Amino acid sequence: MLDRKYTDFAVDKTMELLAIDSPSGYTKAAALWVKKTFSDLGFAAEITKKGGVIVDLGGEDKEDALFLEAHADTLGAMVAEIKPNGRLRITPLGGLRAENTEAENVRVYRRDGSFLEGTLQLINASVHVNLKYADTKRDFTTTEVVLDSDVKKAEETEKLGIAVGDIVCFDPRSRVTEEGYIKSRFLDDKLSVGILLGLAKYIADEKVTPKRKVYAHITVYEEVGHGGAGSVPEGVTEAISVDMGCVGEGLKCTEKDVSICVKDSGGPYSYEVVSKLIEAAKKEEASYALDVYPGYGSDVEATLRAGYDIRHGLIGAGVYASHGYERSHVEGVTNSIKVLKGYLEI
Ligand SMILES: [Zn+2]
Repeated sequence: MLDRKYTDFAVDKTMELLAIDSPSGYTKAAALWVKKTFSDLGFAAEITKKGGVIVDLGGEDKEDALFLEAHADTLGAMVAEIKPNGRLRITPLGGLRAENTEAENVRVYRRDGSFLEGTLQLINASVHVNLKYADTKRDFTTTEVVLDSDVKKAEETEKLGIAVGDIVCFDPRSRVTEEGYIKSRFLDDKLSVGILLGLAKYIADEKVTPKRKVYAHITVYEEVGHGGAGSVPEGVTEAISVDMGCVGEGLKCTEKDVSICVKDSGGPYSYEVVSKLIEAAKKEEASYALDVYPGYGSDVEATLRAGYDIRHGLIGAGVYASHGYERSHVEGVTNSIKVLKGYLEI
């Protein structure tokens, strides 16, 4: 049994983090929040040179340490060009899709941290005017950011302090429904940061000490592929990515389960770690699913590619409509914390 308060804490903290815009490359505020939130639970946390956060979650055997990786960066975009009409052409940060961000409200952050609001729209977005509306393929050449300001020329937009390289953040539209569904654009992977905070609160409140030393790394460049490519403490023998579990056709996981990934685009996960994750799920009576992810890469694979000699695994709460308007469930959060608790033998 896992006290409901740990799930509630994980979900509350997820919602707080979702409210902080943090696409890859613009994660400082999110990292400071992560550092403070782990510190408030009594754990030593520090920001790496690259901008991630390493947390010491306690534990004994430093020679057989476990590394838990989740990422606080999300999809987003950057201003690529101020168009002659004063509108913005954007370039995606990570795998952002125009098909599901069209018509979303955005914040365009100037280099001084202030922002201007706008909306990503199809070019010539009025259906009563644009007779090719339905036939146009949506990408970032056929859409543009329309700023909520009276600008009609590039110079007018420049005068507002907007420049190439400014960060474009999409409204996450986060909510938890009465039925326990959690919805937001960026559950990937802020939900897992919440899950690690739920685990940290369990360790703190229950005053348990894992047999193995445990570190968490909240990375900030996962969506562009190199989040986990460094900062592995001495003595780490295993790394587990806590990242969204895939949900879709041909896969067994639902939003209420914890997904244990057996293979993704980067190949099979460590047979030994996967077996131990299954044992942990069974012991804790967590509802889990074993799945192969057809198009997916993870932070731990970046860690391996960076040259670290470790065994690797991946778990996460099931998330539907990934990289779109994502949905998970509080039961998926509970099941994920349970597996981690079982793996740490606490
Ligand atoms: Zn992710």
